[in-house]
Amino acid sequence: MASLAASVKLKSCTPQTTQVSDNFSQLVKQQADIVRIVGEYVKLRKTGAQNYTGLCPFHKEKTGSFSVNATHGYFYCFGCHEKGDVFTFVMKLENISFPDAVRTVAQKAGIALPKREFTSPEEAREAGLRRQLLDIHEAATQYFEAALKSAEAARAREYLTGRGVTAETIAKFRIGYAPEDFNHMRNALGQHFSEDVLRASGLFSAKEQADGSQGQMYARFRKRITFPIANEQGKTIAFTARALDAKDEKGRDIAKYLNSPETALYTKGQVLFNLDKAKGDIRKNDGVLLVEGQMDCITAFMAGIHSVVATSGTAFTEAQVRLLSRFAKRAFINFDPDTAGANAAEKSIALLIEEGFDVKIITLDGGLDPDRFIRDRGVQEYLAAISNAKRHSDYLIDRARQLYPGRTADAKVKAMNFLLPHIRRMPSGVARAEFADDAAQKLGIDSAILRQELRQAAAQRSESVRSHQHDPANETERILLRALVLNDDDPARALAAARLSEHPEWYDGLPSSAVLEALALTPAPANPLDAAPDQASRILLARALEHPPEPAEGAVTQTASLAEQVEDALHTLKRRHLERKQRETRMLMAEAERRGDEPMLAKLTQEKLLLDRQLREH
Ligand SMILES: [Zn+2]
Repeated sequence: MASLAASVKLKSCTPQTTQVSDNFSQLVKQQADIVRIVGEYVKLRKTGAQNYTGLCPFHKEKTGSFSVNATHGYFYCFGCHEKGDVFTFVMKLENISFPDAVRTVAQKAGIALPKREFTSPEEAREAGLRRQLLDIHEAATQYFEAALKSAEAARAREYLTGRGVTAETIAKFRIGYAPEDFNHMRNALGQHFSEDVLRASGLFSAKEQADGSQGQMYARFRKRITFPIANEQGKTIAFTARALDAKDEKGRDIAKYLNSPETALYTKGQVLFNLDKAKGDIRKNDGVLLVEGQMDCITAFMAGIHSVVATSGTAFTEAQVRLLSRFAKRAFINFDPDTAGANAAEKSIALLIEEGFDVKIITLDGGLDPDRFIRDRGVQEYLAAISNAKRHSDYLIDRARQLYPGRTADAKVKAMNFLLPHIRRMPSGVARAEFADDAAQKLGIDSAILRQELRQAAAQRSESVRSHQHDPANETERILLRALVLNDDDPARALAAARLSEHPEWYDGLPSSAVLEALALTPAPANPLDAAPDQASRILLARALEHPPEPAEGAVTQTASLAEQVEDALHTLKRRHLERKQRETRMLMAEAERRGDEPMLAKLTQEKLLLDRQLREH
């Protein structure tokens, strides 16, 4: 490997930004001791030559499923399946960006930080554009804030006052107003930003011309109350804006809410409204209140419920669930009581349950949304509603009965079909059984067949979760996996990769076949776990790498080299493959005999003789 120090370019004088180079992060990763750094957060116990175990900081547990592999520099939790390297670990626990994690780890490891450097002109340009987009969003936020104080914004202020939004709230959430004028904002911001930045910001629209080019830009948000959408660091990256009128000047209907389009800064479905302000409290309470609208979120927050975020009108996504799971594993959902809200709640429940969240559903009296409820009834009553939230299973059973009322067999089957996917999704077997029992009882299911279906749903969870219970790979497979993750020039890796890619039939059907195949064909990535194509394979691989190779039988004083162990393992695989084929051939022969198929029998006999010989010589 080339000298690490030489590969790090230490340039000075360019302004410090939030970027760090690949070279520097590689250097830090090589030099920082992951065991020591994780050990600052988690009490670790040595469980293998290079393996350490502790209680997982990402999920609640009593026995340690969390393991750190010093050789390969990764962590993996067999319980919640969080995984990554030392940077991922610090990013997740400290809720910081990758560049900040690199800096933090560098500091902990006593590695001096380089001055800013870009590896390519593209990178510099990209970083430059992002910075300018952040700047223009800050400028736009200020522009809208100032406009809210103008004479034109009188109606906007009235609307806000009418909804109980105080000056303090306006300042805290940086609520603003987008004036009716098409050109004013472009002219104002155009004094400070280039045309390219204005275009890339998503703050302006332009009509396509007859020749396909973009016409003059004009303000996207007009005559609307603006709410900045911030990233986790609290920087504005987009806006959502509420119309003051239901119709435009020509009498056409206009959308009540208008959002920024996706830009280099903003990807829909990857941001949660208010997460920047809420994240500390979400982690402290190990719980998040999930609402739909910005106003619901703002009202709850200002009433003192600080661990609240809003999906802000878009469908809740897996990316958002993963984002939340860094802070808490309990969620309270309070969506609108209408059909759309109920459907959104169901989908959100599904996503959260799959990520291992404990989910409760809040339903409010009188069909009110959280904003209205808190303003009408006060925060005490709202807190009472939170503490009366239903377990998600109870909520779904009630919902099934609502959707398919009546006690007919048909209604019961439909209600059950509605519930089955939700039951299957739950990670815990105990919880699934309980859910299934509750459902059977509350739906009044007395048919033995239907009960059996429910019980089966409870027993069989999707493969991904089921498989983490045990480790069906044997030592032969583990030896090969350990060899395959080594550098490409290692003799053990070279041998295993060459023979396995030549003979896929040797490992066909084994528990580890998918990951053996992936690693035989391509060298392992920096974090070897990333080579595993699915979770079951990842568990097998993590288990295999947990312990060093076991001493060969009879070798008390001397351990066989890994290459020798690989040789043996390949030998074993081939023998098992031949034995399998021998068994198959015997069965086919018996079958051919029964049918009186003489030609087939003769052909199979030849094959069996060949196999017998191969096995004898093997
Ligand atoms: Zn865990």
